[in-house]
Amino acid sequence: MASSLKDSWKETGKGLGHAFKDLGKTVVKTVEKGVNEAVDWADREDAKICQNCNTANPPESKFCSSCGKEL
Ligand SMILES: [Zn+2]
Repeated sequence: MASSLKDSWKETGKGLGHAFKDLGKTVVKTVEKGVNEAVDWADREDAKICQNCNTANPPESKFCSSCGKEL
C-alpha cells in the first residue's frame, strides 16, 4: 500500500517534471523569438528607437517593448 502510494507520487512528480520542462522550452522559444524580432526591427529604418534604452520597436508601437517608456 505504502509503496504504491510512493509510486503514484513518483509518477506525479515525473508528470510535473515534464510539464515544467515543456514550459521552460516554451519560455526559451518566446524569448528567442522576441530577440529575433528585435533584431529584425533594428534593421528597419522606420523602427522607433527608444531614447531610454535604445531598443528598436515597430513603428506603430507607442511604448517601448523593453522598458515600457513612451516612444
Ligand atoms: Zn526602452
